[in-house]
Amino acid sequence: MADIGFIGLGNMGAALVRRLMREHTLHVWDLNRAAVEVLVAEGAVAANGPGDIGASGVEMVITCLPTSAQVEEVLFEDDGLAANLAEGTLVADMTTGDTMITKQLAARLAEQGISMIDAPVSGGVVGAEQGTIAIMVGGTEDLFARARPIFETVSPNVFHAGDIGAGHAMKVINNMISSCIRLATFEGLALATKVGIEPMRFAEILSKGAARGFVADTTLPKYVIPGRQEQGFGLALMYKDLSLATQLGQDLKAPLTTGNYAREVFRRALNELGEDVDITQIVRLFERGADVDVCAAQEAADKAD
Ligand code: NAD
Repeated sequence: MADIGFIGLGNMGAALVRRLMREHTLHVWDLNRAAVEVLVAEGAVAANGPGDIGASGVEMVITCLPTSAQVEEVLFEDDGLAANLAEGTLVADMTTGDTMITKQLAARLAEQGISMIDAPVSGGVVGAEQGTIAIMVGGTEDLFARARPIFETVSPNVFHAGDIGAGHAMKVINNMISSCIRLATFEGLALATKVGIEPMRFAEILSKGAARGFVADTTLPKYVIPGRQEQGFGLALMYKDLSLATQLGQDLKAPLTTGNYAREVFRRALNELGEDVDITQIVRLFERGADVDVCAAQEAADKAD
């Protein structure tokens, strides 16, 4: 049983904390005090800020924040984490972050004898809750070996992607691919609905064919078709991931034709649907384009049965 600090208790952070709390003592902090209180009621220890977590003698601090900008803030703000952590502490960043910034943060922490790894996740809030989420780690072999038993209390799917920053690179490439699949699948769903194929049947058949995958077998039947339910992942966060992936492509002179296209569709969706909507809502772009209503089509099919 270890004492672990955790900063960032949003959709993903809270789900990860709940898994970790099964075996460890969690010291938690978020700017949103209500998020802290919910987890304290479930057994976590409340902290009064990043500096307080740093000073609480934890052996590892996990961050799960929107972007690397907030990670930098909690680490290096006045009297923040870095100023209070004991030498030898491990910082694990589970944010979907920026590879280049993470390398710089790790180098700054190393000057103080503090180690850092990046360990973003893939598999959604449900994957975290069910303990199946993939955790992709960037850092030295030694640090990976040190963090692995703690991550395994979240999920057995813990991978060493490479050196510091490789976890973030792996994650944003993964999300770039999954976004492209999402767009292609929603486009196909709108067309199938227009042809007159029942949406749920479309999902069922798709999930058994060559286009099968998470979007076909989970996103469509569980979230999109039954009333565009929230998937617990903000559209803006996915746009951020696409921006990180395509920036990495530019930095490394790797052309990303499909990834850049997907990023622009997400930009348009944010402008049309709002900055605060869940990722499920992007289906509306394709419904409007084809002049169909997928959820209404399913409801009509259910009534006719
Ligand atoms: P979220 O927006 O639900 O939560 C972010 C939390 O960070 C909020 O509670 C917010 O109050 C807190 N926060 C922001 N700035 C802070 C600061 N300076 N100090 C303390 N707290 C601060 O986001 P999320 O869905 O939990 O995602 C977190 C990270 O995990 C993101 O990088 C995201 O891309 C990644 N991720 C999310 C999912 C998912 O399905 N939600 C899946 C994979 C990866």
